[in-house]
Amino acid sequence: MLTDAAPRDRDREGFLASDRIKALALPHDARLPAIAKSIESAMRSGKSKDVRRACAEFLAATSEFYKVPDCGIRVLAARPLRVRERWTTEFFGDYTPSTMLIRVWMRTAVRKEITSFGTFLSTLCHEFCHHLDLQKFGFRDSWHTRGFYERAAALYHHARGTPPKKLFWVPMTGGRWRIDWPRTNRSALR
Ligand SMILES: [Zn+2]
Repeated sequence: MLTDAAPRDRDREGFLASDRIKALALPHDARLPAIAKSIESAMRSGKSKDVRRACAEFLAATSEFYKVPDCGIRVLAARPLRVRERWTTEFFGDYTPSTMLIRVWMRTAVRKEITSFGTFLSTLCHEFCHHLDLQKFGFRDSWHTRGFYERAAALYHHARGTPPKKLFWVPMTGGRWRIDWPRTNRSALR
């Protein structure tokens, strides 16, 4: 995972604010983990209609918790070949701010490999965090900052029922950052 470079224009301030917000409030009940389990079993059945219903339930619950308007969801069997590349890092889903629609796909376009449940849920949380950026935090855009990835990871680990990981970052050229996965995973084992 790689962050975007900080914009130099009037968006810079919002970008830096997004980078700083590392924590995300999480529900204290087990509603999201329960719905996530139903997404997992729907994926096992392979019926995209059932997966869609479970995802819609998940997003209705998250939207209600964060007090943001509900967003739409479309679950596609395979990634469309022509995807408008708003963000080049999105492999399994996207979010369109103007329509508040999340799309996730169960298979990759070219090799038709089925997306694992972990990747699928992580994508759903990632796209929902774009929705949160615009509807809750009020950013003018939703950038992939370190804070963004931390918030998406917090939501994912809560929903998956796995312990949160402290993310370690390595600076890259151009002011971007990437996650140091070996270090992040080593520290999670301790
Ligand atoms: Zn994204």
